[in-house]
Amino acid sequence: MSIDVIDEGKIIMIYKSNTVSVNYIKEGIVELKFDAKEGSVNKFDQQTLQSFQDAIETLQGLADLKGVVMTSGKSAFIVGADITEFITHFDAPAEQLSDWLKSVNNTFNCFEDLNCPTIAAVNGFALGGGFEATLLADYRIADTTAVIGFPETKLGIMPGWGGTVRLPRLIGCDNALIWITSATNNKADEALKVGAIDAVVAPEKLRESAIEILEDAIAGKLDWQAHRAKKQAPIGVSQIESMMSFSSAKDMVAAKAGKHYPAPMTALTCIEESVTLTRDKALAIETKGFVKLAKTDVARALVGIFLNYQKIKGNAKVAAKKASNIDQAAVLGAGIMGGGIAYQSASKDTPIVMKDINQAALDLGLNEASAILFKQLKRKRIDGIKMAKVLNNITTTLTYESVNNVDIVIEAVVENPKVKSTVLAEVESHVREDAIITSNTSTISINELAKSLKRPEKFCGMHFFNPVHQMPLVEIIRGEKTSEETIATVVAYGAKMGKSPIVVNDCPGFFINRVLFPYLGGFAKLISDGADFVKVDMVMEKEFGWPMGPAYLLDVIGMDTAHHAQAVLAKGFPDRMAKVQKDSIDAMFEVGRYGQKNDKGFYNYSVDKHGRAKKGAAPEAYELLKTVSAESQDFSHDEMIARTMIPMVIETVRCLEENIIATPEEADMGLVFGLGFPRFRGGVFQYIDTMGVAAFVKLADSFTHLGEMYKVTDGMRQKATAGTTYYNM
Ligand code: NAD
Repeated sequence: MSIDVIDEGKIIMIYKSNTVSVNYIKEGIVELKFDAKEGSVNKFDQQTLQSFQDAIETLQGLADLKGVVMTSGKSAFIVGADITEFITHFDAPAEQLSDWLKSVNNTFNCFEDLNCPTIAAVNGFALGGGFEATLLADYRIADTTAVIGFPETKLGIMPGWGGTVRLPRLIGCDNALIWITSATNNKADEALKVGAIDAVVAPEKLRESAIEILEDAIAGKLDWQAHRAKKQAPIGVSQIESMMSFSSAKDMVAAKAGKHYPAPMTALTCIEESVTLTRDKALAIETKGFVKLAKTDVARALVGIFLNYQKIKGNAKVAAKKASNIDQAAVLGAGIMGGGIAYQSASKDTPIVMKDINQAALDLGLNEASAILFKQLKRKRIDGIKMAKVLNNITTTLTYESVNNVDIVIEAVVENPKVKSTVLAEVESHVREDAIITSNTSTISINELAKSLKRPEKFCGMHFFNPVHQMPLVEIIRGEKTSEETIATVVAYGAKMGKSPIVVNDCPGFFINRVLFPYLGGFAKLISDGADFVKVDMVMEKEFGWPMGPAYLLDVIGMDTAHHAQAVLAKGFPDRMAKVQKDSIDAMFEVGRYGQKNDKGFYNYSVDKHGRAKKGAAPEAYELLKTVSAESQDFSHDEMIARTMIPMVIETVRCLEENIIATPEEADMGLVFGLGFPRFRGGVFQYIDTMGVAAFVKLADSFTHLGEMYKVTDGMRQKATAGTTYYNM
């Protein structure tokens, strides 16, 4: 909607929509402001793009236009394109997607080509499309809150509205390659250093300073035409220079991104091809690169993870509205997990009491927290004040008195049902009646543990992963009697601790371990049939994309822990998880090859002469495995992947069908955050959807001779016949 408001003979408001307004603020000077009526942030959705285009057309019609300042009415400039809306463009035929990009570029070019100087006043986030909008202006001034950059390659795509064209021309190829291929968020001072912005000022000075610069340009004190011409011109680098700089950048990108993530390399080659071309030809190359990436399974998976993450955050926000306050927490047990939990709660501003039965454990728990903080201090991530504050938030105790008045308790004592039941009953008798009690057990039934409590409605599982400060997931386990208020409060507390909470229903292994152990079972069967564990690890890491292969993972989990968890799952799901013969995990466990914790498992662990950790396939392990394996034989890479992944996929589907996990989104997020499922595959459900449910069922059917773990569910068969997917149920 375009409005002319007459104020004492002078037009002040020229255009206004729900997202963009254009006003005269001084003689000939116009402010184009992004200020979405709905929501707390500005983003480029279809409506904003249309308004931007209308606003530019209005500007083009102003005969007395002398300068334009682009601003935001929000605390962030523009957070980026609205991915939930634009994903539909990705699904459109390539030509349609390409036409859409061209039309946005036409709009953007019209702003860049306005017949007067322009400046963007940048506050808060200006990411992706938001940053691309600022690049249209002749000058950019930011305040100290500004954070700018191109996160697109993290989503498997690349900037598509001129970012790969304008940024290299502005800050040079080397800097632009780093910004775009590493998807870095850059603070104002870093942006100033490389020339992505022209000045930084305090937030209260931003608008006024932007207008001053614009007035200097209008007055001819700044040569804005020359500035603009340089930004639009091809980069004048010699062929040799260009070859050298791009070939070393390619090596770096290939090493960092790896073969599973094509976006950074595609962005790089587009820049390489386009830097010597005019703006329009360069934009055409960018469009081609963008379309190619948007059509990949990787982009779909990475965008899927982004959307799933938003969903988890949304769930936590909803939970926070129903949650009671957690101002003081307690953790029982100061071991590996207790120490990590105490650190995590304290570092996110919830004071925590750590209780153990011996002082030495408390000292160790506190040392663990100090060690994490020292590392961060050394890397300048925190200062001394933050470190002191976090440590002050942790108090230690050997008695229950200090726990009397806490709002929540996390039990993290040894994994023994009797000890846990006793400890839970003890602590319940000390805390307030409204306090919540949780257990960090990894294998004991929450419903069983709840039997030792008088108030089972105030009890649930809160399963963290090791190391707590690094692993983003917390699995919250609802028992039969857990109240929804308890769940909401624990979800909100988990989110406040900086974790991504997923809520699951109680069953053996809960969700994460229940789906992990069939995968490890598939691996153990493969080894029993004569596969080489080093080769399996190599395929599952390099080809499938797991951060570590199954043998190495077992060494990290610990063979004693894995052996115990396997037994719990075998008891819970005997039809498909009970062992028919002794396997490699039993063999390792029996001879005390526990893995990393005692430096010997499938691999031997040592330290080289430079003090670096060294890992080598253990000859002793090979000898031992002969006692539980058939003659060694080669398996194709596809077979290794199928035999390990099929059991995990089917078990994940069972968890959804049995309502252990509520949605494919939460399942996939849990797998990515809790187990390191390859992000470029998006999680199990994204993986089956990409392959096609029918294709998966056909593959699984060809392995049913290996046992029940390979038999798909009726639900999967129905889905295969119906031709539907898990994400669009
Ligand atoms: P740990 O052996 O390192 O620590 C257990 C601590 O509990 C010890 O310090 C011990 O002194 C203390 N403790 C024993 N009885 C106690 C009592 N009555 N009151 C207070 N403290 C008592 O064990 P951990 O690895 O930290 O595991 C703790 C829990 O977390 C277990 O249930 C485990 O299954 C679970 N868990 C462990 C991991 C992991 O990777 N280590 C991961 C997820 C969950």
